[in-house]
Amino acid sequence: MKFGGTSMAGTERIRRVANIVRKQAAGGNEVAVVVSAMAGETDRLVNFCREANALYDPAEYDVVVASGEQVTSGLLALTLQSLGCKARSWLGWQIPVKTIEAHAKARIESIDAPEMVAAMEAGEIAVVPGFQGISEDGRVTTLGRGGSDTSAVAVAAAVKADRCDIYTDVDGVYTTDPRIVAKARKLKAVTYEEMLELASVGAKVLQTRSVGLAMKEGVRIQVLSSFVGDDAVSADELPGTLIVSDEEMDELVEKGLMERQLVTGIAHDKNEAKVILTRVPDKPGAVAHIFEPLAEASINVDMIIQNVGRDKGETDVTFTVPQADLARAQALLEDRRGEIGFNRIITDSKIAKISVVGVGMKSHAGVASTMFRALSDRGINIQAISTSEIKVSVMIDEDETELAVRVLHTAYGLDATD
Ligand code: ADP
Ligand code: ASP
Ligand code: MG
Repeated sequence: MKFGGTSMAGTERIRRVANIVRKQAAGGNEVAVVVSAMAGETDRLVNFCREANALYDPAEYDVVVASGEQVTSGLLALTLQSLGCKARSWLGWQIPVKTIEAHAKARIESIDAPEMVAAMEAGEIAVVPGFQGISEDGRVTTLGRGGSDTSAVAVAAAVKADRCDIYTDVDGVYTTDPRIVAKARKLKAVTYEEMLELASVGAKVLQTRSVGLAMKEGVRIQVLSSFVGDDAVSADELPGTLIVSDEEMDELVEKGLMERQLVTGIAHDKNEAKVILTRVPDKPGAVAHIFEPLAEASINVDMIIQNVGRDKGETDVTFTVPQADLARAQALLEDRRGEIGFNRIITDSKIAKISVVGVGMKSHAGVASTMFRALSDRGINIQAISTSEIKVSVMIDEDETELAVRVLHTAYGLDATD
């Protein structure tokens, strides 16, 4: 069981969580619970780091931001004990959750938890702070924002759980963010592949890595709400959204429990920024000069457009990077101005990426053209386009995000009818 920040925000909510956990345990289950920091707490801690030192050391940043989950794991264990349950917390370094790669965006390499499993078998509820791990050299690490989802899936795989229930503040995965589109529809099931794509283009209900890990390890995920009354149906009756394999989805469709749609969902992302390099020489090697230094600095480039060459053998190159990396990207490119040979760098953070996702696209034409027509009918200008096998994304002005998501939701027939 995993509980997100809103579910853990304050002792009263933690008591509600403890009651949900107690019921699962009382049903004869061995339970591990992964918790997030209280809502807003990680942002608060990140700000402290920025105030202390603008160019903070990521290893010390991890020490600071990992503390939010330490607090909630201890509080949940205490609350469970107050309800008469046996429970204890297991911090990342105690289990241990071994991680590799950079601080602040570490990746889980392994969880070998014989002691924790033995305690669970003996009837003790294991409470695990999400988001945190330990590096090869014994230092505290964190998994990147939203990382408690990944902790939960990794713990589920390590203890060979029957299911990984991810409790949050909405009752499942919807056709789009239900906070933006009131007519969004809850999905009974989504395939791993589609959920992976939706998460990677901005549907923050699950961290992208958690879905990739679940797919690789075959972990069954259910997304459901922790904001339910005492009379709510049990999680075992699967009231939320299941993340399933293609085969399982086929079975659900055959049984008439799911309808096959061309587009499964729509997501938006306001965290990218646009960079335009003007008058780049139109010759072999030019784009390599641009993107190599960005790759070396681990800056993830997403959409790329190289405009048709204009006179004098020059062209403009446009691409997007995460907003958080924009200043670094700009500095790196300025440093290499001579080598690349561009004229000006123009940047814009006020952009958004809107994506439509669905496996149906593999075999059907017309998904992209429906998107372009629907946006143009509302006067929304498309600045860039990118596609994959099951996704079409467009870059637009940030101010038009909500409108674009609503218009597309209607255009693909996803609006709820009741
Ligand atoms: P938690 O704190 O539980 O990890 P998050 O805030 O990370 O919760 O994720 C839940 C939020 O994800 C919801 O409140 C909702 O606004 C947002 N969201 C975005 N896209 C979707 C979607 N397609 N379905 C459901 N929720 C979505
Ligand atoms: N507390 C961390 C964050 O806010 C991890 C999580 O909640 O998933 O990013
Ligand atoms: Mg989250």
